[in-house]
Amino acid sequence: MNAQALREQVVATARAMNAAGINRGKAGNVSARCQEGSFDGFLVTPSGLPYAEMNADDIVAMTLGGEAVGSRVPSSEWRFHRDLYRHRPDAQAIVHTHAPFATTLACLHRAIPAFHYMVAVAGGRDIRCAPYATFGTQQLSDHAVAALDGRRACLLANHGMIALGDAPASALAMAIEVETLAEMYWRALQAGEPRLLPAEEMEVVLAKFATYGQPDPRER
Ligand SMILES: [Zn+2]
Repeated sequence: MNAQALREQVVATARAMNAAGINRGKAGNVSARCQEGSFDGFLVTPSGLPYAEMNADDIVAMTLGGEAVGSRVPSSEWRFHRDLYRHRPDAQAIVHTHAPFATTLACLHRAIPAFHYMVAVAGGRDIRCAPYATFGTQQLSDHAVAALDGRRACLLANHGMIALGDAPASALAMAIEVETLAEMYWRALQAGEPRLLPAEEMEVVLAKFATYGQPDPRER
């Protein structure tokens, strides 16, 4: 996909994240990995611009060295976007939101445990919560990279969540899934003590998810 089409996808995903109710106002940010010609880096939403007013030209191109191209200032969270693209060859897009239920749990420093089998959609037996660090810092980025090790989503303590995908739309879908799980877990906590699935069952679900949606070789 060319860079212009990718810029438009980043804008559309940022707007969709607010429309889906998983982010409000100017919080959050979206990026997509971009390799075109000699450019090797990513495209990220700019700092402080309302999503409704944002155009493809406002999206900031950044190198993996952290250098911004053009006049717009990138999102203050560009560091964890850069570091995730450096550490995670599987990440093609990143959505960061302050989704209400995910952030509620993150403010309690609670990971999302295996209370529902869909927790495995993020790649493990739970969805970790990264320790708190000030927004925009290298320390926050380091915590996020560690919490996402082997996973496609994590919570950020006293802050929000991060979701990875192989395209902006799938990173958004992951963020919506995490917020849905966070809401269900929070509701279950209000009513009692959620019964967690055993580790062996989560291994079964993870193994099923590893092939879910893939073409069945027997049908070839
Ligand atoms: Zn944030």
